[in-house]
Amino acid sequence: MASTALIGFMGAGKTTAARTLGERAVDVDEVIEARLGRRVQDVFAAQGEAAFREVEEQVTLELLADVEFDVVALGGGAVASQRVRQALRGHRVVWLATSPEDAWERVRIDDGSLPGRPLAVDRGRFDELHEARQPLYESLADVIVPASRSRQLPAVLAALEGLPAEAKLLWAANASADYPVYVGAGLLTRARFWPAALAGRRVLVTDANAGRLYADRLEPAFARIAIAPGEQSKTVAHAEIVWTEMARHGLTRADLVVALGGGVVGDLAGFCAATYQRGVRYVQVPTTLLAQVDSAYGGKTGVDLPEAKNYVGAFHQPAAVICDPDALATLPAEELAAGCAEVIKTGLIAGGRLWELLDAGAAPTDPDVIARCVLAKLTIVAADERDTGRRQLLNLGHTVAHAIETATGYARYRHGEAVALGLLAELRLSGAERLRTRVAELLAAHGLAVTLDDEVDVEAVIAATALDKKRLDQGPVPFVLCPEPGRPQLARTVAPAELRTAIGELQRARAVRAASRG
Ligand code: ADP
Ligand code: ZN
Repeated sequence: MASTALIGFMGAGKTTAARTLGERAVDVDEVIEARLGRRVQDVFAAQGEAAFREVEEQVTLELLADVEFDVVALGGGAVASQRVRQALRGHRVVWLATSPEDAWERVRIDDGSLPGRPLAVDRGRFDELHEARQPLYESLADVIVPASRSRQLPAVLAALEGLPAEAKLLWAANASADYPVYVGAGLLTRARFWPAALAGRRVLVTDANAGRLYADRLEPAFARIAIAPGEQSKTVAHAEIVWTEMARHGLTRADLVVALGGGVVGDLAGFCAATYQRGVRYVQVPTTLLAQVDSAYGGKTGVDLPEAKNYVGAFHQPAAVICDPDALATLPAEELAAGCAEVIKTGLIAGGRLWELLDAGAAPTDPDVIARCVLAKLTIVAADERDTGRRQLLNLGHTVAHAIETATGYARYRHGEAVALGLLAELRLSGAERLRTRVAELLAAHGLAVTLDDEVDVEAVIAATALDKKRLDQGPVPFVLCPEPGRPQLARTVAPAELRTAIGELQRARAVRAASRG
């Protein structure tokens, strides 16, 4: 039996991908064309779609069962067949994922002879079909690769070596570097998985808690550097300690840094890896919810200054991320709650199935929810690695969150707790009344406060929004608005009065006062 099946919409590059593997792979459409002696579009034209689907189903099942090939590339519509979906259960399914725009472009480029593809004639119909198939591909996929990387299939298959069958691989594609992201319950805690392609000695950087709990689940490193837990370790002084330890242990550019822990460890270790000898590879092994859904991906590394958080850093993509939701079982409840805010933020940005799941009460620690959050983040980062455009959408809730953190000296709230409040304020700015109410319910259900402590100075929070790091040249303070799930947008300007209302109403006392006035 072939071990791997390639699925994806027309134009995703399944045929191209299969060709990178030579004899190991077979393309269903090519086999059908060879057998029938005519092109797919001619079968469509002569016999109609139903007749084609019948042949397609039969050939697909036959090739999936064939031991001669490692990889079978399916036709775009084959997954509509129940029997094909059934047969796919025994295979590792690789989805070459496209946006409708990319797919349309690609279909038009590789078929100069339009209408070559029978289902790619009308753009509106094409987009509808894309939208209808997307959830089907999503639900079947064990491995998700952006279509732009169809030629990287050999590297993707190599990255799968030794990966337990239930785990997922998401391929992160960036202008600077690609890397595999592994998501699976038990990957670290039980399977002790390590990507075979990442050879080299390893230096472990961790904090006392994550190290005590999970360091022994990784193969012994030749050196281990442990920092004190907490944000106060994310400083240049701690970076110097880590650099010095790396040098003392003789770390070279052939070696790997392994960051085991939450966002603090990931940011600090990533920064040290970015700068030590001008850059060594590092692997993120995130153990907090916040790190598993957000900070471990995208290559933002850095430390804080006394003046401001994350003010010194570098972009440096990890060589891999290993994400095991089971490691969250030991996380303190408040840390878990703080991560939930980022999960809900991601659900609002991504919309679609992820939002549906969260809205229906899915646990933020569910591996499927985490994998969907990761995919949403990777997709946005891929389009804008250096944070000059689309990536700023990930800052939903964060302009107000950062202002709350600044105004309270970073002492009163965890980042995620501030994000929860920031989301509520920014949903108000978005005019999304009902959505704001629903999000407040969800945040509260996950143990987060939905009002600002009475002692916090609202005026100071409002003033602090003007200090946002994303604000350029005294220009407008950037906000992300989200009038409905899946439709985040950068706001041009927000009226000061609206901002005052949105932040002011977070404080229960004020809200009560306002209500009694009205
Ligand atoms: P964040 O990821 O939110 O930036 P930190 O890196 O500061 O958070 O981690 C929050 C706290 O949780 C720290 O005290 C850290 O040592 C601890 N921690 C991290 N991962 C785990 C875990 N899986 N189980 C228990 N404690 C953990
Ligand atoms: Zn955040």
